[in-house]
Amino acid sequence: MLIERYNEVKKHVEEACKRVGRDPREVTVIAVSKTKPLEMVEELRKEKVLDFGENKVQEIRDKYANISWPVRWHLIGHLQTNKIKYIVDKVALIHSVDSIKLAQAIDKEAAKHDVKEVPILIQVNFAHEDTKFGLNPEDVFDVVKEISALEHVKIKGLMQSAPFVDDPEDNRKYFRAMKQLSVDINNKNFDNVDMSILSMGMTNDYEIAVEEGATMVRVGTAIFGERNYNI
Ligand SMILES: *Cc1c(COP(=O)(O)O)cnc(C)c1O
Repeated sequence: MLIERYNEVKKHVEEACKRVGRDPREVTVIAVSKTKPLEMVEELRKEKVLDFGENKVQEIRDKYANISWPVRWHLIGHLQTNKIKYIVDKVALIHSVDSIKLAQAIDKEAAKHDVKEVPILIQVNFAHEDTKFGLNPEDVFDVVKEISALEHVKIKGLMQSAPFVDDPEDNRKYFRAMKQLSVDINNKNFDNVDMSILSMGMTNDYEIAVEEGATMVRVGTAIFGERNYNI
């Protein structure tokens, strides 16, 4: 039963919160359903799970069109500007904004589709991995400042995909760096920017991420099992 696996993750989140004196209600578990069939999403939805993560625009479109009850879709993967139009009015949060150009394009599509405001996170690449999307931490201030001037996007926080490591403790420093960056940005008091969401932590390392301040963890494998990309 998927709900049992989901509840297991929730329990680990609660325990991590307890270790550091946080309120577990601050943390949302996003069930990352990419590559998994709609029936699995619906099985969890029936149990009142509402937040689901996908990394492909096409997959959100398909699932959105066919699901029996509304859910909150989180776009967690890289977004190409030419695909924004397909999802701008369908997603609850875009986690993966890593350029001014992309934010401007979202702003434009939002206006076209009569979406007042699209909530976004700024993706940061703390480990400077070449293979990953995301801004260098030192560029984030300028980008946040520029994006904050846009009318139809609203920065709600930061996101990162930490490196895949054997020992999740190795990622603690990156999680801590993201929390600190969010505090530094908050202290700048940019208009139209809030830093209430920190999206970090996956199956391998979400407990450490919660200990370091994550408010959203994106968990796929621990809930849905291994993915098969060849189907
Ligand atoms: C696939 C994916 C996840 C979930 O990964 P798991 O290791 O299966 O929990 C989280 N975040 C992003 C950006 C992903 O692409």
